Amino acid sequence: MNIHEYQAKQLLREYGAPVSGGRIVLKADEAKTAAGELEGPLWVVKAQIHAGGRGKGKFKEASAGEKGGVRLAKSVEEAAEEAQKMLGRTLVTHQTGPAGRTVNRIYIEEGSGIERELYLALLVDRATSRVAFVVSTEGGMDIEEVAAKTPERILTFTVDPASGISGFHGRRVAFALGLQGKQIRQCVDLVNKLYRLFTEKDAEMLEINPLIVTDTGELKCLDCKLSFDSNALYRQPEVLSLRDESEEDAKELQASKFDLNYIALDGEIGCMVNGAGLAMATMDIIKLYGSEPANFLDVGGGATKDKVTEAFKIITSDPNVKGILVNIFGGIMRCDVIAEGVIAAVKEVGLQVPLVVRLEGTNVDLGKKIINESGLAVIAADNLADAAEKIVKAVKGN
Ligand code: GDP
Ligand code: MN
Repeated sequence: MNIHEYQAKQLLREYGAPVSGGRIVLKADEAKTAAGELEGPLWVVKAQIHAGGRGKGKFKEASAGEKGGVRLAKSVEEAAEEAQKMLGRTLVTHQTGPAGRTVNRIYIEEGSGIERELYLALLVDRATSRVAFVVSTEGGMDIEEVAAKTPERILTFTVDPASGISGFHGRRVAFALGLQGKQIRQCVDLVNKLYRLFTEKDAEMLEINPLIVTDTGELKCLDCKLSFDSNALYRQPEVLSLRDESEEDAKELQASKFDLNYIALDGEIGCMVNGAGLAMATMDIIKLYGSEPANFLDVGGGATKDKVTEAFKIITSDPNVKGILVNIFGGIMRCDVIAEGVIAAVKEVGLQVPLVVRLEGTNVDLGKKIINESGLAVIAADNLADAAEKIVKAVKGN
């Protein structure tokens, strides 16, 4: 789960990490009061969306030379104006995709004078099963570009969970960032605090880009991207309360409410499968037969008729779906329950595209009988390869 920059900075503040003062603005008429509560002489006006690259991003219908989603202002009035200009519009960055994101929240911050822009991130490194610090002197710009062109400028240190964080880690980060004098002590302190936040809040990724050295020689977190392990949210009610559902994929959100494991993809064949392994195999075989899956969907082992109906509705609500493949192995799951769910869903939402159903396992004969007697135009398949071939043929029309 992702949160907004202003929410991440509030958490940083609670842990004692250095951030600028700021105010969140949800409505245009709040902008002036918010900016007026902050100290000048510089204000930064920042669009809040769950995507990076806002500074270099572009608003839809932007006027010639109009700035992106991070703007500097020299007065309270100018800051309020910039906030009002951005609210409600669509911002496109390299992370949003061409559709962009609607800006519903603006963060106004006290501006900092920048001496150096650095990069500091914490993430869970799966290779070592440890929390890793990723640091670079090349902050501010696209870290992806630095990784591609000059990977030697990115350094990674891991923390042994048994001994935990110590001054040694902070000094190592400070040295890698080329920090001097009192900044080294500030960096050790920051590294400790970030590690505590990361582990106590079950974070998945914490990225500060840029971490700056200000013109008065202090360290400060100028931007923050923070995401959390969704499987730990049950024990993080405070984090969960920061969720902004308007930033999430509508289909994925609906799926999460019904406890379905659903990920939207770019292809044309909607898949309804039980078990993550079988879902992966189904996606692979669709590709093998020359098409692309529109989604990953694992309805789980103990799916009910309602859950299957909901899954079917989510798949058919995707305009890219040109055909649907239902591939169920009934182990714990019964094939007749799946068949009833599919038929109930088809009756409710209609069926505009070809549907191939492959059932195997518990109550398979009953399941097939229910489908055959439903009078619906369902194409039956006997095995995985047969099913994939049939749905790809039906979609490609040959
Ligand atoms: P992003 O583009 O979404 O990553 O947004 P950032 O918060 O990283 O801001 C983009 C850039 O705006 C930064 O790299 C800075 O160069 C600039 N910027 C952000 N805040 C300030 C500030 O307080 N003062 C100054 N001078 N520049 C800032
Ligand atoms: Mn940034």
